[in-house]
Amino acid sequence: MWRKLQPVIARTPALARYAGRDLAEFPVTEIADLRADYGAWNSLGMSDEELRGLAAAAEQGSAVGELSAGWSTGTGRGARGLFLASPAERADYIGQSLARLLPARTLLKRQRLALHLRASNALYSDVGRGRFTFAHFPLEASIKQSIAELAHFEPTILIAPPHRLATFAAAGAHFSSLQHLFCGSEPTSEAECDFINERLGVRPRQIYQSTEGFLATECANGRLHLNDHAMAIELEPVPGTPGYRPIITDLRRTSQPIVRVRGDDYLELDPHTCPCGFAGRVIHAPQGRVNDIWRFEGLTVTPPQVVTALEAVLGGDKIWQAEAGPERVVLHLSPPCPASISTPSATTAARALSQACDLPVPVEVFHDLSAWSGPKRRKVVWRDG
Ligand SMILES: [Zn+2]
Repeated sequence: MWRKLQPVIARTPALARYAGRDLAEFPVTEIADLRADYGAWNSLGMSDEELRGLAAAAEQGSAVGELSAGWSTGTGRGARGLFLASPAERADYIGQSLARLLPARTLLKRQRLALHLRASNALYSDVGRGRFTFAHFPLEASIKQSIAELAHFEPTILIAPPHRLATFAAAGAHFSSLQHLFCGSEPTSEAECDFINERLGVRPRQIYQSTEGFLATECANGRLHLNDHAMAIELEPVPGTPGYRPIITDLRRTSQPIVRVRGDDYLELDPHTCPCGFAGRVIHAPQGRVNDIWRFEGLTVTPPQVVTALEAVLGGDKIWQAEAGPERVVLHLSPPCPASISTPSATTAARALSQACDLPVPVEVFHDLSAWSGPKRRKVVWRDG
């Protein structure tokens, strides 16, 4: 696949002079550098300006022809990512996704696929053909409205961000035809998946996707496999932790080649092999970004440590954010609800976090988080200074 990609690389200004060499000889590129000039990072001879114009037009709903461009959700800080795909790449992407997500017997039956994600994603709009009926449900709608519209559509397959699924579950939503549930666009945890499964009756499986590529999929055994059949993902050790950050090469993308782009998620490998038959490496679900690792003097605390410590006490249905800096940790929780007696006290959660992570700074609790705002949820945050 790498060899087949070389003509495309030769037409991509940022990469052209390395064409024909081994992957290891290519430079590693930061996402910010790629996003600074999309003109250098496409094989179609298009300028940065043209591509941004195309993505802006697509966002406004104007028809843009065969080639589709769009903006990713972004993580709050820094520029959003532009995603470019030709019809062949979209077909390939959908085929790859469905093959990894759904068993063959499901693909052969009629399905109603509901996509509850950010404004219409061109990558999926081609799905609504043949046996698949496809509908997009915008995230901007209220919870009540989304539940009503989804219930009316009767999806057999639903893809949504986990914070939205957790809210549906808490609100008592019921989708009677639902058979396959997928979490996308932000990290989720074991406790949250348990809660969603308990209430919605289907256990969500995770899709780990970024603008840089479709990185991993959870198999039927509930294990998250890197998509090693289509990507060359190098794992760069993160100092002071047992984890890595991915350096991403997508062996199938041609309009916008992705070669050795350094991702910002913090990943840990799961050393146990999976009996499902897919040979992709197994990782633990990513819980945050490398920049959100807590770095106290002499102590490093990773996002999965924080999530595990807090959700052991809080469960998977509470909204929380733990924000740390060199002097203190602030645990943001929702305003206290006197009606629910079983809600564990904030003090217990703060103590559990402090003890489990052996924190050298105090944990303060603020009841000031009533809903998630912003495009993406960040449970674990590090603010340096
Ligand atoms: Zn597996």
